[in-house]
Amino acid sequence: MHRIAIIGAGPSGFFLADRLLSQDTVPVAVDMFERLPTPYGLVRYGVAPDHEKIRNVTRTFDKVAARPGFRFFGNIEIGKHVTLEELQHYYHLIAFTTGAQTDRRMGIPGEDLPGSHTATEFVAWYNGHPDYRDREFDLSGERVAVVGVGNVAVDVARILARSHDELAATDLADHALDALRASGVREVHLLGRRGPAQAAFTNPEVKELGELIGADVSALAHEVELDELSASALAGDDDATTRKKLEILTDYARREAAGKARRLHLRFLVSPVEILERNGRVGGIKLVRNRLVLSNGELKAEPTGQFEELPVDLVFRSVGYRGVPIPGLPFDERRGVVPNEAGRVLDPAHGSPLTAHYVSGWIKRGPSGVIGTNKPDAAETATAMLEDVVAGRMLSPDRGDIEPLLRDRQPDLVDWAAWQRLNAAETAAGQPAGRPRVKHTRIAEMLEAIKAKG
Ligand code: NAP
Repeated sequence: MHRIAIIGAGPSGFFLADRLLSQDTVPVAVDMFERLPTPYGLVRYGVAPDHEKIRNVTRTFDKVAARPGFRFFGNIEIGKHVTLEELQHYYHLIAFTTGAQTDRRMGIPGEDLPGSHTATEFVAWYNGHPDYRDREFDLSGERVAVVGVGNVAVDVARILARSHDELAATDLADHALDALRASGVREVHLLGRRGPAQAAFTNPEVKELGELIGADVSALAHEVELDELSASALAGDDDATTRKKLEILTDYARREAAGKARRLHLRFLVSPVEILERNGRVGGIKLVRNRLVLSNGELKAEPTGQFEELPVDLVFRSVGYRGVPIPGLPFDERRGVVPNEAGRVLDPAHGSPLTAHYVSGWIKRGPSGVIGTNKPDAAETATAMLEDVVAGRMLSPDRGDIEPLLRDRQPDLVDWAAWQRLNAAETAAGQPAGRPRVKHTRIAEMLEAIKAKG
């Protein structure tokens, strides 16, 4: 039996485990390590609570966990409870699926003013991530800017625009539900630095903004109109998705406001150059108007020198996630990923694979794509791993089962059965109010709930 450790219990970890456990060429056992007591990574702590259907992918992950040879070691931190060096004595292969745990910086003045936050913090807070549940967001102001026009920016805008009744039917964390109920937010500006054709959001997500019960959506006709470069790029190929996106945005530019309680403004070709201060906190955002220029085959934003100031009380920077280095592994600082070839970690000294160390998901390719994108990505890494087993390119573990060591170092280890008890407690707590679950957001409470059900 070949023993495999997977570090990180998010979607890429589960897709990788699935691939490894569903083949019968090579006998393998998979131990999945997770720093938090809960599995599913961004499916629990990133996916918007009002997108419950996307969360249903956890049913697939539960089937993986039920496969013979799978074990879950939750509440175990690599580097704290056990080191990578120690793991190398217990496993033939080690794969990292740790995702992209931080955010990109914008590098503009005022970025760190009170009232300027990353979208990643806000998302983790409203989803009840234990590391973020005590963050505070002052939602008393009326105007918010969200920088970036990716799907995370759209999630943040939509959650800010939803009514209390809509949110109360979801598993949005209770502390966030209370704070959002008292929210004074009336206007949300989403700021895209390039044009509408280059916007990173996907069509179903931007279409949903136009269907909100409690918010009007608008765009500016002159910003939605295609510039010459985008028009000729589009004329040259058969890109039905971008055409549909432009149709949706053109419709928004033509819409009359219906007088709903909140308003979302979609802006394009503007870049923040400074977050402005008022009374020691965010008071506005200074934007420069951009034009598109062709550079290395890509349409990029170039500032025109024409400025605009938008008074806002709060800024969410949603300009992309970024991977963090893993102690003991090489790291590509520029791309924020572990250097690899088809999932095999590369030794930067000679560019050849580091024996038996692999990556999959965002730490492998960067923070792009939807949850399902991680499936083919995991298949590629699994293929490399299985090829290496067949070729004998593995570590030579000299110790037996790691579980006793882990339980000794972390008496509060959460295995799959323990997680299922926590899951049952959370779903039962949601039932009276018709919610999918009420999340525990503190680790101590999670452990208590597990013990109470034990
Ligand atoms: P993203 O899709 O990469 O979007 C990042 C946005 O930030 C882009 O609009 C980008 O503009 C902009 N940006 C980057 N640097 C900037 C700067 N310095 N100034 C101004 N704007 C800047 O990333 P994301 O929204 O964090 O999402 C991550 C991934 O998760 C994506 O693949 C997304 O589709 C996925 N996701 C999916 C869903 C869903 O399916 N419902 C929900 C959430 C997230 P440029 O294009 O000009 O670089």
